Amino acid sequence: MITIATIPVFDVYALRKQFPVLEREVKGKPLIYLDNAATSQKPAVVIDALVQYYTGYNANIHRGIHTLAEEATAAFEATRETAKHFIHAAGREEIIFTRGTTEGINLVAYTWGRANVGKGDEIIISAMEHHSNIVPWQILCEEKGAQLKVIPVDDAGELIMEAYEKLLSDKTRLVAITHVSNALGTVNPVKQMIRSAHKAGALVLVDGAQSTVHLDIDVQDMDCDFFVCSAHKLYGPTGVGVLYGKKHVLEAMPVFQGGGEMIKEVTFEKTTYNELPYKYEAGTPNIADTIVFKTALDFIEQTGKEQIRQHEHELLQYATAALETVPGLKIIGRAKEKTSLVSFVIDKVHPQDIGILLDNKGIAVRTGHHCAQPLMQRYGIPGTIRASFAAYNTKEEIDELLLGLEKSIKLLV
Ligand SMILES: *Cc1c(COP(=O)(O)O)cnc(C)c1O
Repeated sequence: MITIATIPVFDVYALRKQFPVLEREVKGKPLIYLDNAATSQKPAVVIDALVQYYTGYNANIHRGIHTLAEEATAAFEATRETAKHFIHAAGREEIIFTRGTTEGINLVAYTWGRANVGKGDEIIISAMEHHSNIVPWQILCEEKGAQLKVIPVDDAGELIMEAYEKLLSDKTRLVAITHVSNALGTVNPVKQMIRSAHKAGALVLVDGAQSTVHLDIDVQDMDCDFFVCSAHKLYGPTGVGVLYGKKHVLEAMPVFQGGGEMIKEVTFEKTTYNELPYKYEAGTPNIADTIVFKTALDFIEQTGKEQIRQHEHELLQYATAALETVPGLKIIGRAKEKTSLVSFVIDKVHPQDIGILLDNKGIAVRTGHHCAQPLMQRYGIPGTIRASFAAYNTKEEIDELLLGLEKSIKLLV
């Protein structure tokens, strides 16, 4: 007998009702939020979980033996377990909580980087990196006399793989690449890139700030050595993120910040350090937001990652086709594999002017360099207008964006 799996219907209108902010108006118009690559909105369950923590069991974790401390510790560690499953890490000790992607990258640069990168060594990044995955490596290279090498991008917004393979050598210590470009939407072939890097004897850090919300992440299958992401781009709170590292790599790394929780024993002569993951979690962490991060990850799982992806893919195709009809509009980033983000420029108009006029219609887009100035220089533009879509966006909103654009262009040209 053949059984046909029934796929529950993805109801974007029901989903929208779970996001209180989507009910507000901006400049007298219903909010159309298309800046999800900067940060996503939060569902009521996440907001409620924050209130529940502070009203119910606020306490410092890992130390106290009283009930509140036990409850808070259990909830905090439950997030670690959920995050481990979400990115398919092998163990909970490989999940380190940070303030976000930027802090995760800096942690690796300051610890692993300072122990493993020396004069004449090379670090490879790409031309489409976010400043957060450029500057920490620049600082490290300057300090150590190492060299930063950059994988070029082509006109379509894809990394040039032949150039990457040529950059790899026995001097390469690390490849630090973004999984998905926040300015173009390009999905990079990280698995293949990691294999090549490992063959050359280099480790790989993957910046998952944009990918984790859109793609299935399996750090073991990918075989990356480090992976970083931020909760606030995953329908979760600001101020918390994950640094994943392979256990043996993390164990061999020197410590980052010194202080409470990262120690085993302190005397004035010598301090011994705690085991993973606490070794890298000095001081009282962002307990509330870390606890609530679990609610956000559960929310994504319950909504259905595959269904969200399908919906977002439809939005991408719909928006791309619609925008192509606008005279003078050019899409920047036409990679074969993209997440739900469209970056574009329009002849004779400055992106910022469009951004202001769209805001007057309640439409939130991002304009500018998207923290990727070298990439903008590559395309010879000061910036783009970027519309980035989340699970709760609709085709009607894209219709409104198009109308808004057409009216704005008439005013400006
Ligand atoms: C947002 C983003 C970052 C920085 O994340 P923070 O949460 O601001 O630390 C880094 N890389 C990419 C690709 C991003 O999109």
